[in-house]
Amino acid sequence: MDVPEDVVIRRSARRRRTLQARRDGDKIVVLVPATLAARDYERLVPQLIERVRAREAGGTRRSDAALEKAARRLAKELVADLGLLSRLTRVTWSTRQNRRWGSCTTTTGEIRLSSRLQSMPDWVIDYVLFHELIHLEEANHSRRFHELVRRYPAHDRAVGFLHGVAHALGNPDEPWPSDIDEPDEPSGDLGD
Ligand SMILES: [Zn+2]
Repeated sequence: MDVPEDVVIRRSARRRRTLQARRDGDKIVVLVPATLAARDYERLVPQLIERVRAREAGGTRRSDAALEKAARRLAKELVADLGLLSRLTRVTWSTRQNRRWGSCTTTTGEIRLSSRLQSMPDWVIDYVLFHELIHLEEANHSRRFHELVRRYPAHDRAVGFLHGVAHALGNPDEPWPSDIDEPDEPSGDLGD
């Protein structure tokens, strides 16, 4: 797991079972039993960090679990014919994506969304989620990819919103909305 810069992990030999996360100045301190299995660590620590942040944000922020639920709902409602549900394994927020809005690792079925999206409306977040979901089917921004991603009902509105954000940030390197990421696996079909 990527530990965000403002998070301190403390492993404690005395702590037997429970994990705890609390705010300590500008840090979030997570107390973890020293004996915790790696897979539980990977699953539980991000949840706890997310909970502290959500509490501080007034509880409006979506958790990783809520993101995954939304992704599965979008897959069922909009692209049931593609059978993506079995390919999707994990959806998480990422604090490390400052140059793109999301990413999809097609080989593992993992989707990550930039935490910079968290203050944006749900229908914009869902668009990025859907965009990444479609990458499980089409790794590249091919013609078929664009046809599929347009099934998202608020597609044009969300793309326009992200255009506006990129413009407001004044960052010419900010990814354009139709190209909010880069496929993880290079291939010969990037020019579309
Ligand atoms: Zn993409």
